[in-house]
Amino acid sequence: MSSRLDESVMYLKGVGPKKAELFEKLGIKTIRDLIFHLPRQYLDLTSPVPIASAILEEPNVIEAEIVKKERPAMIRRGMTLYRLLATDGTDDMSVVIYNSQYLFDSLKIGEKYILYGKITGNLTRKEMSSPTVLKSSSADKILPIYPLTAGLTQNILRSCVKIALSLIIPGEVEFLPEDILLRAGFIPESEALKAIHFPKSREEVVPARRRLSFDELLTLRLGMSAMRERARSSTTFSMKNADISGFVSALPFRLTGAQNRAVAECSADMQKTVPMNRLILGDVGSGKTAVAAACCYIAAKNGAQAVMMAPTEILAAQHYASLKGFLEPSEIKIGLLTGSLSKKQKAAVYEEIKSGGLDVIVGTHALLQSGAEYSRLGLVITDEQHRFGVAQRAALAEKGENPHRLVMSATPIPRTLALMIYGELDISVLDELPAGRKKIETYAVTGKLRSRACAFIRKELDSGGQAYIVCPAVEEGEGEMKNVSDYAKELSAGEFKGYRLGVLHGKLPSAKKEEVMRAFKDRELDILVCTTVVEVGVDVPNASVMMVENADRFGLSQLHQLRGRVGRGERSSYCILITDNTSEESRKRLRVLSSTSDGFEISEADLELRGPGDFFGSAQHGLPPLKIADLAADRDIVKAAQDTAEIIYDTGRINLPGCAALRSRVEKLFERAGD
Ligand code: ADP
Ligand code: MG
Repeated sequence: MSSRLDESVMYLKGVGPKKAELFEKLGIKTIRDLIFHLPRQYLDLTSPVPIASAILEEPNVIEAEIVKKERPAMIRRGMTLYRLLATDGTDDMSVVIYNSQYLFDSLKIGEKYILYGKITGNLTRKEMSSPTVLKSSSADKILPIYPLTAGLTQNILRSCVKIALSLIIPGEVEFLPEDILLRAGFIPESEALKAIHFPKSREEVVPARRRLSFDELLTLRLGMSAMRERARSSTTFSMKNADISGFVSALPFRLTGAQNRAVAECSADMQKTVPMNRLILGDVGSGKTAVAAACCYIAAKNGAQAVMMAPTEILAAQHYASLKGFLEPSEIKIGLLTGSLSKKQKAAVYEEIKSGGLDVIVGTHALLQSGAEYSRLGLVITDEQHRFGVAQRAALAEKGENPHRLVMSATPIPRTLALMIYGELDISVLDELPAGRKKIETYAVTGKLRSRACAFIRKELDSGGQAYIVCPAVEEGEGEMKNVSDYAKELSAGEFKGYRLGVLHGKLPSAKKEEVMRAFKDRELDILVCTTVVEVGVDVPNASVMMVENADRFGLSQLHQLRGRVGRGERSSYCILITDNTSEESRKRLRVLSSTSDGFEISEADLELRGPGDFFGSAQHGLPPLKIADLAADRDIVKAAQDTAEIIYDTGRINLPGCAALRSRVEKLFERAGD
């Protein structure tokens, strides 16, 4: 079924090849694309103010009658000035237009117009130049403001979109089955599109935005379901022997109830003939590594190899050490493969992988790309710091021999969101921390208390503890903020004179990073001054205090991850958040951290309070860019999309003819994500 909407935007009245090229820069190829080029905000001209009470030097909306048109004046070559006089009964105002004879001619004496622009002058002589002009009788008094590119103007876009919208045949763009629409309580799509571009009132935008957000989330969710389905081709690694008693008895602790549940879920998955595709969602310190180790154990006992990928070398080295501790007692052979190995060392590891001498290989991303040839890769575990893009995930899911796949989350997030973001995975939640964990006492203070905080840290150090001092990573030239190395120098010459300080940041070569971490771990350093490099997973049980500079620059979940670096040993632990941002909002955010240590609760608050660097505002979740939906603000829509996706997908209804339009939307979304 072909539609005018699928024609090139070039054929839209008033466009043509030249403008079409500009449109393409905005990602607009077809007329349909243009309709889905949504405004970022609006210019609301519905509430004019009397000229007499207009605020000078600010933009004002005026409704006035043109009473006089002066003779055009050429002020220099190619620049003509047109002046008009307008009045609204409270006062007069002069209106100045440069060069647009068209606009000047269209303004008629005796007619009323809405004029929008900055008013200059003084109380007796007011002037508005280059105003946005509308007829008083115009039906559209709320104007859309679009993302633009050079050569296009808001006016061009507005008029093109208007024409494009007029081409919609009612019902044509609607792709949701009627009953679904009714059930979810959203307005028809054609109505939503018209209202989102040219709302009659501010109120009209709300249901329009909700409907379009719902569409976006629903297609996303369905796309993930499809992806998950595709990954369900059979695996050659159905695990026969899932007895983990050997593993459990070698552990230095008892697994928590949540860990046991997660292991059981993984074990059940791995015994199936389709590959496991599971996410372990758990708070810092909930013991995700032990769950991963149990899975490695099962793989090894079934003669399959397992790899565990970490985002950084530091983490890889640490996972290597942990897995060794957990698995070597069971005679399982573990290797480490990272970029910093010498060529010779690498070759040796490759050889061991190929010959099957290694059961478990821990490493960085290089693990999958490198020359490593696995003889029987049955399990791939990724410890994710940043999300892979969906396209990458799809590629991974379709890889080679269909190994089982386990993903460990870095951030605990609310379940409804996890279902959206990790929609193609089954989820195990670790909602229980190992017993005996001490609460990390957390204080938010201003810079005035820094020296008291430092005195406190010195006391900790003197009694055998170690400390982290964290500052945000800074690009050069960010004025008032300190560079990590300079800051460390300042500290070691001042507050921490006589103590041993190490510096760790992302720009260091990895060998240097390793060395610093090792030195800190082996207690050759008292203080580690660092950026968020330490955020994920680093384990130094003797570190008992952390001070975070410019704490308001971090997201709450990120701060929670950060402070998880302390409180890992016997010592009572402390986290001091320093911020000079004394706004109520900032205080409220940081207070959350003092009041709870539950990562899920904190990520909820992060969503509500939306601080800097928050997980959901950025591209970190690896979803295709969302045009309109806001995962944080539209929680109820996320839920509705989730429920609807289940109804449509799980019943197989998605494959029926009534859902053809919906299906093609889903395909299109993921095509784009793969671009
Ligand atoms: P995360 O979920 O943050 O990755 P880890 O796997 O690094 O957590 O575990 C944190 C610490 O807790 C490690 O030192 C680990 O050995 C320990 N641990 C894990 N499970 C338990 C348990 N059931 N009881 C006691 N300690 C545990
Ligand atoms: Mg971890």
